[in-house]
Amino acid sequence: MSTLPDNERPDHEHTYMRWDGWGDPARAHGLPGGVKLLLAAVLGRTPKAPPAPRLAEVTISSPPLADDDLAALAKAVGEDHVDTGHDVRLLHAGGKSTPDLLRRRQAEQAAPGAVVLPASEDEVAAVLAVAVERGLAVVPFGGGTAVTGGLEPDAGPHRGVVSLDLRRLSGLVSFDELTHEATFLAGTTAPTAETFLAERGFELGHFPQSFEFATLGGFAAMRSSGQNSAGYGRFDAMVTGLRVVTPTGTLDLGRAPGSAAGPDLLRWFLGSEGTFGVITQVRLRIHPTPEARLFDAWTFGSFAAGAEALRGVAQLGTGPTVIRLSDEDETAVSLAQVGNIGKALTQGCSAVVLHEGPAELAAARREATGRVLREAGGEPADAKLAASWDHGRFKAPYLRDALLAHGVFCETLETATTWSNLHALKKAVTAALAGGFAEERAKNRVLCHISHVYPTGASLYFTVIAGLGAEPLEPWERVKSRVNDAIMAAGGTISHHHGVGSDHAPWLEQEIGSAGIRMLRAAQAELDPAGIMNPGALVPRAAQC
Ligand SMILES: Cc1cc2nc3c(=O)[nH]c(=O)nc-3n(C[C@H](O)[C@H](O)[C@H](O)COP(=O)(O)OP(=O)(O)OC[C@H]3O[C@@H](n4cnc5c(N)ncnc54)[C@H](O)[C@@H]3O)c2cc1C
Repeated sequence: MSTLPDNERPDHEHTYMRWDGWGDPARAHGLPGGVKLLLAAVLGRTPKAPPAPRLAEVTISSPPLADDDLAALAKAVGEDHVDTGHDVRLLHAGGKSTPDLLRRRQAEQAAPGAVVLPASEDEVAAVLAVAVERGLAVVPFGGGTAVTGGLEPDAGPHRGVVSLDLRRLSGLVSFDELTHEATFLAGTTAPTAETFLAERGFELGHFPQSFEFATLGGFAAMRSSGQNSAGYGRFDAMVTGLRVVTPTGTLDLGRAPGSAAGPDLLRWFLGSEGTFGVITQVRLRIHPTPEARLFDAWTFGSFAAGAEALRGVAQLGTGPTVIRLSDEDETAVSLAQVGNIGKALTQGCSAVVLHEGPAELAAARREATGRVLREAGGEPADAKLAASWDHGRFKAPYLRDALLAHGVFCETLETATTWSNLHALKKAVTAALAGGFAEERAKNRVLCHISHVYPTGASLYFTVIAGLGAEPLEPWERVKSRVNDAIMAAGGTISHHHGVGSDHAPWLEQEIGSAGIRMLRAAQAELDPAGIMNPGALVPRAAQC
């Protein structure tokens, strides 16, 4: 194992995303012609939304932190790394869900009182000590891509909010070629981690759609799942060790690849969403860069037939890296995006499959998967569909900005359940989404896909599009609440990979029971007795009183 010198630890790896949309403003684009046609057919005329205010025009509703708070924080991290600038505070005002983006269009917005950028674990500990002493809430900020309200500048019972931006805590700490493990500082973005590993002939293989901006600490804190999860598992399955700084001490977890030394405390911190402490280092299982990458596209007569085929693959364990199935409506929209709208209604459901690894092994796995898919009624399709999915997979979030500009509301949500319950859950969520919008008098279309499979079940990922309307936030909150009730009633999880945040917090007790909530609160009370850590997320602190 090698421990790397300081020059392997890049300062300030990633730049800020567009403040009121996704990603790099230079890569924003308009709507493809096929999508415009489809939208007109499905939603009718959607009046364009009024233009959003410019960043400089927005009023911040909460004042910056007081001078003595700022002086104490400056002592912890250096004066240059405490920022109360208007624009920087607004860049840390929330995540990137569609409601977040709609809130960015308001003339007055809440924002943290200061943005603080520590560069070491000691500095993180020093910031937490200042926050405890001075009664300030701390919201850890990784890539800022959260979609369930986990970055809200919610002070809880405290005087103000510090956004703890982890971008300076970035870089490779150690690399163990023999064990296939690498340790990174938690603020390292996914592309930076992959670059470090590629230079050494390795890969992590965690590719969520937010890949280009999210951080390893954020993935661990949210129990993220990437598009290659069939092959390499969810992010929590990749984590072999963590260092976490809490207000009452530091933990170093994950001593051996297997252990019976009591309950697995490491797992407690995966999904803790910044409410137990700050993850400062993440040790990860890695694999050699795949020699072969074999993409295939398949079609099925129906979503039910396709789901049966995916179940067969997951239960036999033929080993695809990616396997995803779009339902009929999502297949039609995907085809529209590649300009193939004429064929949309005759295509049934499309699936994308990727096998990778050593060339011979990848080819053998591909053949085994192909046999299962064919026996379940699948037909090989033009591999260009798979290539176009691969090519466009990180561009899709830009499409949402183009839709909003076109007057179209577009949001996603996800859940998971067993194979036996999959279709009942899909039906219940689709009805709650479509029916909810219909009650709000908006035409809509609900799309769905399976993108994460397990031997015992799968996730369902929904996209809903509807006319934006004059006041889109409140109707959506009613629809989303109805959908969450439907997920609970139909036996799904409140989240397969987006996490709980503040948006799903009211439903968590239904999923884990009151004893489960008491366990989380007990851990919070022990690690963070002053309740400063992200008080609005997971199990809101106000509810503890
Ligand atoms: C367009 C888009 C596509 C997405 N696609 C996917 C997807 O395919 N799969 C998926 O799993 N998710 C996806 N997400 C959701 C999001 O990217 C994930 O939740 C991701 O894990 C967040 O990482 P981040 O670094 O951006 O964390 P942030 O958004 O900065 O923070 C998320 C939460 O974790 C806490 N946190 C962050 N870093 C730390 C730390 N070091 N220690 C303690 N707490 C911390 C924060 O306080 C917050 O509560 C998507 C989001 C968007 C906007």
